[in-house]
Amino acid sequence: MKAEKSLRVCDKGHRYYKSSDCLSCPACDKENKPESGFLSKLSSPARKALVHEGIDTLQKLSKYTEKEILKIHSIGPASLPIMRTSLEEEGLSFKE
Ligand SMILES: [Zn+2]
Repeated sequence: MKAEKSLRVCDKGHRYYKSSDCLSCPACDKENKPESGFLSKLSSPARKALVHEGIDTLQKLSKYTEKEILKIHSIGPASLPIMRTSLEEEGLSFKE
């Protein structure tokens, strides 16, 4: 192990140790990445409603039928195609 880790401070003031020349800050990387890709595609009220129901991953979403999802307050029919596409991208689908 010859790599020496050195303390770096990013623009936002996070302190982290990196041994490479890579300057990406792990804390910032995390902040930039939404929990789940599909949530970031939805409108803010729909996203909050899903998270409120505990549906924060596509795997959890796939356990619901489209009808059940539409029953959730603040989720409109416009959100469905976005969710359906996201599910399909992962090889998943709404419950039949
Ligand atoms: Zn940072």
